[in-house]
Amino acid sequence: MEHAAVASAIVTHYTRDRRDLPWRRTRDPYAIWVSEIMLQQTRVATVIPYWERWMTRFPTVRALAEAPLDDVLAAWAGLGYFSRARNLLAGAQAVTTRLGGALPSRAAELRAVPGIGPYTAGAIASIAFGERTPLVDGNVARVLARVFGITDDIKSTVGQRTLWARAADLMAALPTVHAPGDLNQGLMELGATLCSPTSPRCLVCPLATHCVAARTGKQDVLPVVPARKKESELPILSRAALWIEARGELLLARRSPEGLFGGLWELPQGDSLAEIASAVGVTSFDAQPVAYHDQTLTHRRLRIAVFRAGMPRSIVRAAIPGYDSLTRVKLSAVRELGVAAATTAILTKYEDTPWSSTPQPSPSSPKATTRSSKASRASVSTRRTPTSKKPRSARRRASTSSSTTRSR
Ligand code: SF4
Repeated sequence: MEHAAVASAIVTHYTRDRRDLPWRRTRDPYAIWVSEIMLQQTRVATVIPYWERWMTRFPTVRALAEAPLDDVLAAWAGLGYFSRARNLLAGAQAVTTRLGGALPSRAAELRAVPGIGPYTAGAIASIAFGERTPLVDGNVARVLARVFGITDDIKSTVGQRTLWARAADLMAALPTVHAPGDLNQGLMELGATLCSPTSPRCLVCPLATHCVAARTGKQDVLPVVPARKKESELPILSRAALWIEARGELLLARRSPEGLFGGLWELPQGDSLAEIASAVGVTSFDAQPVAYHDQTLTHRRLRIAVFRAGMPRSIVRAAIPGYDSLTRVKLSAVRELGVAAATTAILTKYEDTPWSSTPQPSPSSPKATTRSSKASRASVSTRRTPTSKKPRSARRRASTSSSTTRSR
């Protein structure tokens, strides 16, 4: 295969037909870094307004580094995968303290920044600084696997090594009249616009004459990807969450920064109802859940049963395992915080039909009904549970036996 011809065809197509995206109008490495992190697992159309707001709110590495985690997560709310925001903040703090706020220009040095992996380093170095360095992400992997007829599993170590080698071959062969960043962005653009997973548009693709998959009719079998587990094969993690509402305010807990969903606010929850009620200092709660929330994560299914509880008189914030803070928030202002997706879904359900109205049947097992648009493999359903037909006031309420109300 003539690598220089392939590389030139990619750049020519990109410079002629590329989409006009706001981060393509700048060479600011920080702006490009933010866009690349936001675009991981999130669609372009969703990212654009978030990126524009982010760059207004945190216009420099230093501005981001000095922002509180709560502000950063709130600005990210709606994009999902909040670990990306936490990593961006950690990276900005490292660049500010170690490098005076200036991102390095070489991919090898960029990879030393927390949260910047090989792909992001390649993107920043090639686009912002013109380094002849390759990159491979999901879109690029699909294009390369098809063009070069790579039959290794693209998620395997061997497959990744092959993909990066082919990307490096193209970069090395790129005629000097072309910009390295345009080759990398051209590969991404082809994967995003023409070389789609299920309906590649080979008839209008500039690589059709070079492409092994197109010439041999193997677009359907390339790239080779590992079989995914069925949802029904994933283990179930059951949690109990407390809906504690008083005078229009909801009690939320913030996850400790180091764990899963770190720094996000959510309904306080634990492995059992008694455990979390005791930890929060709740003395009364409904015996039956008012709703369930089911969510399929990458390696397991999460089922959260939501129980109404009375607001504790006082709270010991540090006593709740896995959390570092508690707060009361007006229901209308909950989404202004960085809130976990499960709690957002439960709140949405409540806003549609508050718990006191007629419920729907409870599912017998977790079953996703709505697929999240943000997750590569995440589905969410939030359901109300059946409750007694007696008036609400007559419904049974249970009390904890321990006196767990504590002072601050
Ligand atoms: S010719 Fe078809 S399969 Fe090959 S890169 Fe282009 S769109 Fe993808």
